[in-house]
Amino acid sequence: MSALQTYINKIAKVSKSIIIGMGVTWRYFVSPKEIVTVQYGSKKYGPQENYLPARHRGVHYLESEKCIQCNICATSCPVDCIEMEGTRDGDLEGAWQGDKVQISRFVIDLNKCIFCNLCCEPCPKECIHMGQEFDIAAYTRSNGVKNLLTDRPWTEKDREEEAWRRDEMARLKEEKKKQKAAEAAAKKAAAAKKDEDKKDDQS
Ligand code: SF4
Ligand code: SF4
Repeated sequence: MSALQTYINKIAKVSKSIIIGMGVTWRYFVSPKEIVTVQYGSKKYGPQENYLPARHRGVHYLESEKCIQCNICATSCPVDCIEMEGTRDGDLEGAWQGDKVQISRFVIDLNKCIFCNLCCEPCPKECIHMGQEFDIAAYTRSNGVKNLLTDRPWTEKDREEEAWRRDEMARLKEEKKKQKAAEAAAKKAAAAKKDEDKKDDQS
């Protein structure tokens, strides 16, 4: 094949690909109902679920009332960006009611998150999900930490309340410990009395 023929073939190939590409562009251009690109911030197409696929991995949300605080999501996370705290020792004021647990903290550091979905898949209660939200611009890195209990960025007020709840959890733990010790002592005393009564009956 001569150099000229090779050159003409290349032009033909490129022209063909341009025609095919422009055909696709033209098809979308004349059928505007089909959404291809959405202008950021556009309300024209309504809520994000109208144009984002159901499997879209956006910012997480939690159905806290189903959560058993098993920690599986946190241990499955490859970058350790989930943290949670809570108690089963009693009623904790200001905490969120989970499934037989009082949840005081449940945060995801979206600065570190790689949106891999590995936290959602193993959840035994299917209560942590990846949502549709994707625009998470923030002025500071701390605003990139999401409080899944309030569905809002983690705030200074959250931090103060968390410190108070930590003290309360320590108090509840101590109370429960004392209560258990008292129950065990009462049980032991009852058993000792039973033994004594038995001995008295035999003598
Ligand atoms: S895996 Fe599910 S149930 Fe367990 S702590 Fe995470 S969100 Fe809660
Ligand atoms: S999506 Fe991946 S990186 Fe983000 S919190 Fe879940 S497991 Fe961690």
